[in-house]
Amino acid sequence: MAALGGRAAVSLLLLRRGPPPGLGPGPRRYRYKEKWATMAPRIPPTRLALHHFDMNYSLQLKDLWPSVRASLLCEQKYGALINNFSPVDHVTQELELLNATDFVSEAPKKAQRLQRGAAAEEVGREEGRSGEGRTVMQAEMMTQAETSPPLRASISPNIKCYTFPRGDITRFRPARPDTLGLLNYYLMDAASLLPVLALNVQPDEFVLDLCAAPGGKTLALLQTGVCGHLAANDVSISRTKRLYQILHSYVPKEIREIVSVTSCDGRDWGQLEGGTFHKVLVDVPCTTDRHSVMEQENNIFHKRRTKERQMLPMLQLQLLMAGILATKPGGEVVYSTCSLSPLQNEYVIERAVEIAEIQFNISIHVEDLSHFRTLFQDTFSFFSDCRLGELVLPHLTANFGPMYFCKLRRM
Ligand code: SAM
Repeated sequence: MAALGGRAAVSLLLLRRGPPPGLGPGPRRYRYKEKWATMAPRIPPTRLALHHFDMNYSLQLKDLWPSVRASLLCEQKYGALINNFSPVDHVTQELELLNATDFVSEAPKKAQRLQRGAAAEEVGREEGRSGEGRTVMQAEMMTQAETSPPLRASISPNIKCYTFPRGDITRFRPARPDTLGLLNYYLMDAASLLPVLALNVQPDEFVLDLCAAPGGKTLALLQTGVCGHLAANDVSISRTKRLYQILHSYVPKEIREIVSVTSCDGRDWGQLEGGTFHKVLVDVPCTTDRHSVMEQENNIFHKRRTKERQMLPMLQLQLLMAGILATKPGGEVVYSTCSLSPLQNEYVIERAVEIAEIQFNISIHVEDLSHFRTLFQDTFSFFSDCRLGELVLPHLTANFGPMYFCKLRRM
């Protein structure tokens, strides 16, 4: 507050306490509202965002908020999504020499070691109790630990994303083109890959990316190498152009043929092509918390966008409903945001499950993704109190996210 000019400080106080009682029709001394409004110094949207987050996230995250707040205000970390359509050996060797590792392939190995350790402990306790050597059952426990399904089965072996270790803030150099002109990696928030991994695309499946632009997750979906067809949609024509650019810079022509790009309002999708997709990604517009506290441009906390911001949970719910309706029975939807807000995360999920049941007679199962925490705890900081889905919290030693993701199965 001390750093603010007097009027700005007053505006901030008004923000905290609300307008003076009876502003407008009340006592005469307050009848300069309009003039006051035009003369009031503009509070930058980044500051409004931070103030809003201080009020809300300190209640939600409690002791964790100061550290998350500091991380949001510091430089974020990136991951390098390897482009499998360009020769990979040289680039992966180069990244490994810099001490970066592929967090996707590392995770199951680490989880396996953890499981093996836990199983060995259990077997040791059993042996101690019985006083005998290892039985067939105990040997089986060890084998099971090595191949335990949810930890291994849900991760596409084809996606590779390199990150620097915790606490290492080295930056990746810009991607370079190969001899055919395709770029060798795509720099993105590594946490953005988690919704794609959660979608767990299987061979020949039809996939819909409902809010696809600029296209980081679309590209990651294609890196699985197994999509039968990929529909990438985004309502914004200018952002869809960026999606085309990414496809052209990373994906060869024959693979681009399995992708159809559209610019529809995603809320109408369920009516257009209902029940046709095996997997649907609904990566909705949100308050983009990191962007909102760092960038003035295109900031959803700009005063003139207040209504739009307040309507976000409604838009998110409508998009998620459209995603659910676009899914085949038995198919799966992953919902994601890059916000910490429960109003945009868990509440949207709860409302969608309710509406699907009541209005459409569709029963939805919210899948357990807690194994993601076990798998990726070395790379990301997860919030342990998320009621539904998983939330990556920015942390100074692992400054990825925020990223919320939740998986729904249409029964
Ligand atoms: N999935 C993208 C990626 O990984 O690069 C990021 C998506 S961004 C978080 C949300 C997108 O939703 C924006 O590109 C925005 O244009 C789009 N969007 C907003 N309203 C929409 C609507 N009604 N239908 C479809 N897309 C919409």
